[in-house]
Amino acid sequence: NQWVYKFGGGSSEGDTSMKNLLGGKGANLAEMASLGLPVPPGFTLTTDVCTWYYDHDETYPDDMNDQIETGLSHIEALTGKTFGDPTNPLLVSVRSGARASMPGMMDTVLNLGLNDETVAGLAELSGDRRFALDSYRRFITMYSDVVMGVHHHTFEDILEDAKLDAGYRNDTEMTADDWAGVIEQYKAAVRDALGRDFPQDAREQLQGAVDAVFGSWMNERAVVYRRLNDIPAAWGTAVNVQAMVFGNMGDTSATGVAFTRDPSTGENRYYGEFLINAQGEDVVAGIRTPQTLTRESRLSMGEDAPSMEEALPEVYQQLADVFVRLEAHYRDMQDIEFTVERGKLWMLQTRTGKRTARAALKIAVDMAEDGSISTDEALMRVDPLSLDQLLHPTLDPDASRDIIASGLPASPGAAIGEVVFTSDDAEAMVRAGHKVILVRVETSPEDIHGMHAAEAIVTARGGMTSHAAVVARGMGTPCVSGAGDIKIDYAAGQFTCAGRTIKQGDIVTVDGATGQVFAGEVSMIQPELSGDFAKVMGWADAARTLQVRTNAETPLDVETAKGFGAEGIGLCRTEHMFFEADRLAHFREMILADSEEARREALAKILPVQRDDFAAIFRVMEDRPCTIRLLDPPLHEFLPHAEADIAAVAESIGVPASELMSRARELEETNPMLGHRGCRLGISYPEIYEMQARAILEAQALVAKETGTTPVAEIMIPLVSGEIELRLLRERIDAVARDIGVSDYTVGTMIELPRAALRAGAIAEFADFFSFGTNDLTQTTFGLSRDDAGKFLPDYVRAGIMDKDPFVTLDQDGVGDLIQIATERGRGRKSGLKLGICGEHGGDPASIDFCQRTGLDYVSCSPYRVPIARLAAAQAAI
Ligand code: ADP
Ligand code: MG
Ligand code: MG
Repeated sequence: NQWVYKFGGGSSEGDTSMKNLLGGKGANLAEMASLGLPVPPGFTLTTDVCTWYYDHDETYPDDMNDQIETGLSHIEALTGKTFGDPTNPLLVSVRSGARASMPGMMDTVLNLGLNDETVAGLAELSGDRRFALDSYRRFITMYSDVVMGVHHHTFEDILEDAKLDAGYRNDTEMTADDWAGVIEQYKAAVRDALGRDFPQDAREQLQGAVDAVFGSWMNERAVVYRRLNDIPAAWGTAVNVQAMVFGNMGDTSATGVAFTRDPSTGENRYYGEFLINAQGEDVVAGIRTPQTLTRESRLSMGEDAPSMEEALPEVYQQLADVFVRLEAHYRDMQDIEFTVERGKLWMLQTRTGKRTARAALKIAVDMAEDGSISTDEALMRVDPLSLDQLLHPTLDPDASRDIIASGLPASPGAAIGEVVFTSDDAEAMVRAGHKVILVRVETSPEDIHGMHAAEAIVTARGGMTSHAAVVARGMGTPCVSGAGDIKIDYAAGQFTCAGRTIKQGDIVTVDGATGQVFAGEVSMIQPELSGDFAKVMGWADAARTLQVRTNAETPLDVETAKGFGAEGIGLCRTEHMFFEADRLAHFREMILADSEEARREALAKILPVQRDDFAAIFRVMEDRPCTIRLLDPPLHEFLPHAEADIAAVAESIGVPASELMSRARELEETNPMLGHRGCRLGISYPEIYEMQARAILEAQALVAKETGTTPVAEIMIPLVSGEIELRLLRERIDAVARDIGVSDYTVGTMIELPRAALRAGAIAEFADFFSFGTNDLTQTTFGLSRDDAGKFLPDYVRAGIMDKDPFVTLDQDGVGDLIQIATERGRGRKSGLKLGICGEHGGDPASIDFCQRTGLDYVSCSPYRVPIARLAAAQAAI
């Protein structure tokens, strides 16, 4: 078995297509090396090793060690150095790298191979003793922390004290002798903590680091991250062992990160940060404030420290050339890590860059328009769910505002919430129904849960590529990073800034697009959906074959959905219209009526109100089809239950409280979800459905006459279990239509009971359309009450019985089978039968893909999901 894949020196055994085996980092290092880019040589231990390791009691395959030796020889040959050699030592980094980038895994160990002897060799070779000792103290800190479990605070405290004693402010003031002293203290600290010495043998160090990477695959943070992101444990991680290059060799050395385009806005300009005389981790950790990559961004940010373009112009040019080559090769925006060692550029990582939704749209449009990618590819590049970020409000530019702090615009979007200082508090407050803004000095992978919970994140330290910034952009959460004037006092639960004090629980507004934080609430405005958004939506509309409708009944929702491009209404829930105070009284009168005649009298009062409701909808939708569902919920939902309410309602509608109470009790059901609801109401009280049908058809005629449009009424009957219910109710509707003298309407049914799906052939006889009500169909197929499932579904997900909540993502195996059966049988009987879906799933991309494959005509979703569904439908069609 090949466990080890080598790269470097202009060729590689792996390539970018081998991400599953080599992890993302390893596959792209191999690819870059093959492209002839300057990549320090190295090798990758495959994810198969990880799998093997966990399948075999945390041991390794027998033939792996020889392959590691061969890998080391490969690096030694290309670098001319020898691992563990006191005079000419090879140092390596040990880097974890799963298929998908995964915070929570082991951090990288740099400078591995250093010990008391090789550090002298390194000093000799480089002619720089201070550099060698700086590297050694970094190595001891990292290795002790991530491999041996001695917390890095231990070492930071020692360093702080040493600086304090010497009167230094920065690490850069530390001399070689100072570092030598610190190293002695570090080693003593390790001995104190663990009762053994810091390992001196290079091979033992390497083994320890490799063990730690594979071990970290199962640590708690990694497990939580995988659960949140649907990453299977079986994937495993790879380990990369790579020759060190040194960004800490003085003022012609540097380290940095860059994006080939701006990851916040998508603008086509280089974007990045670097630090002179530093090693990789320093940029991300926010230890010093990094400098900008280009002169242009230095000027736009008003920075004084020279950009890389100005400070190291030749290397900058090499880097810019690499950007061009990488973008041309990968045909997408890249996120890059590099190091400059004494004026020579080295590439340490590339990957497809994470970006905001806005940037994703802009980059996709720009690349499609310049011909780098096709419009289909452009559509596939945008995550439909991420569009949600763009559909929401931003700060009203005219609103008055009280600025308290400013930092970097690390992740766009605006948010309002209460200040909290820890991730645990953030989570707890959100659980209690609050909206929170997480304010921290900086964030680390331990904060993921708090960052998820928060509306926005503010950090006092760190740049645009700090942990907080990168993670927030990935989650679409607004973030302001590096708001340096903020002084946080965790113990007191407050921060101060420019002489003001903000306490835990105080409301602030964050604008991630400008990097500003305001006291109190700032008012917001609705987004403008033009430009790149409109272009991508236009391409999506051309590419998709599924229609997209909306579930809406209030004129405001209908209007919003139309603005988002809804092509019709897939579900108008008429009962929502009864809950308004003026109609509720009539409706209750109707429920309390003790004869059909009395019922008809009450219904006659509701008719004009309903007609107005439907007319309003038809006016907005013009000639787009509107599926209107007749009354669905059980009647007792409309009656009061608490004694005090009963008395008040009884008085207001003029019946004795006792009568109301006994009727409410009569209507009570043990299992309302499976009780007297849906078409069963229409069977018991046909006059209700007749009134609704009349209101719909009269409204349709009215609006047609008034506006000259052709409103399309589709009357939908809920919860049928077979053809006879539908036949009987349809006869009633047709009679009403004849009475009014109209014929331009259709009648269909929801398929939301397994029996209805199975009897779809017979039902189709009487239906012009089916709409799959997948919320109820999921409940009834699983025999699972949606209102109670919350208590145990998490156990099911954890136990691996379900991998997703079936109310969010359609259960394609079971519920999906029923949909398929109903589609085949329904269309078998009536080939032109129109089919749609109107459950929550109508706005879920994976479910939309299923609808496409099954051959439905449309999906219907809530108004804010409409753009998401349009794009998802296009992706499903491509
Ligand atoms: P992460 O996945 O957390 O980014 P990496 O393995 O990419 O971890 O490494 C962390 C930092 O160390 C990065 O800045 C990277 O560029 C730097 N680094 C990794 N390997 C080397 C190396 N061989 N020489 C110099 N710097 C390195
Ligand atoms: Mg990295
Ligand atoms: Mg239903």
